[in-house]
Amino acid sequence: MTKEKLYIYDTTLRDGAQTEGVDFSIHDKKKILAALDLFGVDYIEGGWPGANPTDTEFFRNDHSLRSANLIAFGMTKKTENSVENDPMLSQLVNSKCSSVCIFSKSWDFHVDVALGITHEQNLTNINETTKYIVKCGKECMFAAEHFFDGFKSNPRYALSCLKAAYDNGASWIILADTNGGTLPHEIFEIVSETTRHIPGKNLGIHTHNDTGNAVANSLAAVQAGVRQVQGTINGLGERCGNANLISLIPTFLLKKDFSDKFELNVKRDDLKKLTQCSRLLDDILNREPNRHLPYVGACAFSHKGGIHASAVQKNPKTYEHINPHDVGNCRTIVVSGQSGKSNIMSRLISIGIPVKENDTKIRMLVDEVKHRESIGYSYDGADASFELLARRILGTSTSSILLHRYEVSVRKKNTGEIISSVKAEIDVDGDKIMCQGEGNGPVNALENAIRSDSRYYENFKDFSLVDNKVKTFNTSTGAITRVHLRSTDTKGTTWITVGVSPNIIDSYLNALVESLAYKLLKDRVTDNLSGLSNISS
Ligand SMILES: [Zn+2]
Repeated sequence: MTKEKLYIYDTTLRDGAQTEGVDFSIHDKKKILAALDLFGVDYIEGGWPGANPTDTEFFRNDHSLRSANLIAFGMTKKTENSVENDPMLSQLVNSKCSSVCIFSKSWDFHVDVALGITHEQNLTNINETTKYIVKCGKECMFAAEHFFDGFKSNPRYALSCLKAAYDNGASWIILADTNGGTLPHEIFEIVSETTRHIPGKNLGIHTHNDTGNAVANSLAAVQAGVRQVQGTINGLGERCGNANLISLIPTFLLKKDFSDKFELNVKRDDLKKLTQCSRLLDDILNREPNRHLPYVGACAFSHKGGIHASAVQKNPKTYEHINPHDVGNCRTIVVSGQSGKSNIMSRLISIGIPVKENDTKIRMLVDEVKHRESIGYSYDGADASFELLARRILGTSTSSILLHRYEVSVRKKNTGEIISSVKAEIDVDGDKIMCQGEGNGPVNALENAIRSDSRYYENFKDFSLVDNKVKTFNTSTGAITRVHLRSTDTKGTTWITVGVSPNIIDSYLNALVESLAYKLLKDRVTDNLSGLSNISS
C-alpha cells in the first residue's frame, strides 16, 4: 500500500521564540536550523523578517539546507495599504525564501475587536496578499489564526477566510488553535467538516497546549485529514507551549495507526537523533532537560519498582512501550532503598561491573544501600554515588577521595565581598594531600583547593558543578541535611552525587568530594576499559 506523505513544520524559531525568557541569537537560530534540517523536518519557520532586528538579519543571511524548506513568516497586508506598498509584506516577498507563510484572523470576534475592520475587508486582505505572493513567484501558505474558535462562532465566515487564501493559490491552509482551548473531539469534528471544503492534503494543524492536549489535538487533526503538522522542539511556546514535535514525530513513525499510513521525511534511523535534538534546545536555552518528557526524558525508560525492574530484565516490552534506543534514549534501573537485589544487579550490569548472582558481596551492597537510605541518603538519581559505593564494596574501585578533616572560614569585607577559605586534609587513592583554597563559598573553595594540586589538574580542569538540591529532614538520630549535586564536564556528560550530614556545609563538601572521585574514576575507566557507557546524560 502506498503511504501518504505527512509533512512536519517546525516553528521553534518563530512561535517558540515568543516564549517568556527565550531570546535566540542569530548563532542560536543557525544551530537549531541546522539540527532540524539534518533531522529531516520538511519546513522550518525561521522567524518574521521586519519584526525585529535578529529575524531581519537572519533572513538576510544565506542558509544552505540539506532538504528542509526555510519559511519566512508574516501577516497579510494592512487594510490601508496596497500589496505593493505594504512594508511588512515587501520584507516577505523580498526575502531569500522560496516559501512564505502569512497569517490572518479567521474568527469574526477577532476581526471586530482586535482588527476593527469589516469582515469583507479582512477577506480582501487575505485574498490580495495571497495573490500577490504567488505572483511574486513564491509558495504561499496561509495560517488561519483562531480558526477553531472562529468555526464555533461563525463557521461560514471562518471557512470563507480559508477559501480566500486557497482559491487564490495558497498551497497550505493551516488551521490554528491559537488560544489552545479546543479539545481533541472538537478538533476531529471541525477538521472533518473543513475537509469537505478544502482537501486534507492542503491542510495543516497548529495547536497550543493550554488544555494539555496540543499533541492529542494534532493527532486528531491528522486522523481527520490534515497532512501538515506544526509544532516546536520540546513544545516550546508562549503560555503552556505549542504541540511538541519531539513527541509527535516518534508517534508518527512508531505507532502503527500512523506508521502504516504515513511516510515522513524524517526516517526511522533519523529518530536516533531525537534525544540529542531535544537536549540541544535545552543546552541553547541553558535549561535543565525535563527528565519526564515523553520518549526523550531521562526518566522515560527508568524503572524503580523491583517488580518492574526484574520484569524488564526478562523482556523490556513488559514495561516499555518502545525500545529506548530507537529514539536515542537509554534504559535506567533506579537504585533506592525500595530496590530489591534484581534492581541492583541490573544497575551493576548496565554500568559495566561484572557480577555473579551468588556473590555474597551483592547482599552486602543491598544491605548497605538500605542502611544508608535509612539514615538519609538517597541513591534515586544519584547514580555516581551509587557506583562509587558499589565499586568500594565489590572491590572494583579504581579511585577514591576521602575528606579527613577540614577547616572552613567565611569572611565579609567592608566592600561587601564575601570570601570563603578552606584548609583540608584529603586522601586521594592513598596519597595524603594538604590543600587550601578560596572561593565564593565553601564548596567552591574546596573545589579550588583540590584543583590546585598539580597531580590532578588535568582531571579536574573540565569539571564544573551545574546545580544542587537540598533537603533537611528529621531521622531517628536528629535533623540531617541531604545535598544532591549535579556536575558536568566539557563533553556534556552529567552525573549526580549525594552527601548527607547534620551540618549543611559538611553535606555539600561530601557530595563534592564524591563528585570529584567519580570524575577521576570516569577518566580512568574511559582510559583503561572504555566502558562506563551508562553515565546519566
Ligand atoms: Zn501559535
